[in-house]
Order: sequence, then structure tokens, then C-alpha cells
Amino acid sequence: MEDLSLLIDLHKRNRRQGPGGEAETRQAIALANLQKSEPLRIADIGCGTGASTLQLAQSLNAEITAVDFLPDFIEILKGNAATEGLSDKIKPLVCSMEQLPFANEEFDVLWSEGAIYNIGFEKGVQEWRRFLKPGGILVASEITWTTNTRPDELQHYWDAQYSEIATASQKIKILEHSGYSPIGYFVLPQVCWLENYYHPLRAAFSDFLKRNNDDDESAASIVEAEELEIALYEKNKSYYSYGMYVAQKLG
Ligand code: SAH
Repeated sequence: MEDLSLLIDLHKRNRRQGPGGEAETRQAIALANLQKSEPLRIADIGCGTGASTLQLAQSLNAEITAVDFLPDFIEILKGNAATEGLSDKIKPLVCSMEQLPFANEEFDVLWSEGAIYNIGFEKGVQEWRRFLKPGGILVASEITWTTNTRPDELQHYWDAQYSEIATASQKIKILEHSGYSPIGYFVLPQVCWLENYYHPLRAAFSDFLKRNNDDDESAASIVEAEELEIALYEKNKSYYSYGMYVAQKLG
């Protein structure tokens, strides 16, 4: 199997494919001031198997277009939506976040947890902006330095993984330069990384390796890379997290 198929196989069984949490999604809904009384059109971009999509569908009176470029994740999301009786509120869409087929001003809210880095934060907030109605809300979580300085090994690791990693003030400046008014920001707590993401991922390693015997080397190297990322987080968790950014489209 190729590496992408292996990564899908490893991640698709877990509730989340990145750091996050129900309490934090709830907190972002509150910061964005979204009310159940108003009908909303929401796009959840890079939705994975739909942790946030399902919660938004539960909590709001919304029609949610859930976008991911991996059909396997979207299939699981469809199954979960059916099980939870939410299918009529969710429109699943297999599509790249770089080629979204949306009309200008189609959405009240753009939501994206742990995914905008795939297009790049700056490009994402700029390119997606036209899909929002004036006054519409963008909610995006993005990996963020939580201190002004950090150990070199950590800086080098993350620069190589994602060169746009930066402090919250730099991210907020990008939002200001890109036609948004920042209205809220908070840091995801450790539970979002450990209990909600890394621990279930680690628990999946041994079955994953068993399932993918023939690809021993590729599967083992994927586990090794994940273990490295987890160890680095455990050692350096005071220096970075995901920031949740909430901003309103101007004009
Ligand atoms: N929001 C989910 C998933 C986060 S992981 C959660 O919080 O659990 C990032 C997701 O982005 C993955 O599901 C991955 O398939 C998706 N993704 C990566 N590159 C993409 C692209 N170019 N277009 C659309 N989705 C993409």
C-alpha cells in the first residue's frame, strides 16, 4: 500500500484526525456568537470523519457542507451522520480545499479544525473569504507558538513540517490584513492533543501494524514518524498548541 493509503488506514478509525475537543468546539461556537435560533449555512473544510461537523449539526440549526478530499473519511462521516440521525443536515463533499466549488457569499460560517495548514493559513483565509457573506464568520484552528522563543530542535522540526507555524499575534495580523475583524482567540488545552488525539492514535498502532504486515517497512516508518511527533509534543507542550481563531468578514 502507498503511504497515503496507510495514513488513511491508521487515522480513519479514530474520532478525530487532529487535536481538538467537544468543549473547544462549543467554546468556538460561543465566541462566534452562533445561535440555534438562526438558520445557518456552514462549510466545514477538511472535516475528516466529521468530529466537528456532527457536533455543529447537533448544536445548531444549520445546513453543513462537509468537505474533505479523502473519500474514505467522507464515507465514515456519512455513516456516523446516519447513525446519529443527522444526515438531513449534512451535505458531504469530496473535494480539495484548493478548488472549492462554492459561490461567492454562499455561507454564513466557514469552519475548519486542524486542516487549514494543508492549503496554508494565509492562502486559506484569503481564498476562502469570498465564500462568506459580509459579516460572516470564519472559525479555524491552526498550529501556533504559545511563547516568543523556543528550543532550536523544536523550531527546526516544525519549520520543516509547516513553515507557516507562528505566534498568535502573527496569525491575527494576517486576519486583519486579509479583510477580517478578529473577534476571538483561545489556545486548545493539552487534553485536545493527548486524550483526544495522540492517545487514541497510539492505541491504534499495534492493530495497524498487524493489518499491514506486507507493508511492514512503510507501516513501521509511519508509526515511527507519529511516535516522534508525539514525543516532541510531550517534551515541548508548553511552547505550542493549536490556536482557535474566530474572525468576522468585513465589508
Ligand atoms: N477536522 C478534522 C480533520 C483534521 S485532519 C478533525 O479535526 O478531526 C486534516 C484533514 O484535512 C484530513 O481529513 C485530510 O484528509 C484533510 N485534507 C488534507 N488536505 C486536503 C485538501 N487539499 N483538501 C481537502 N481536505 C484536505
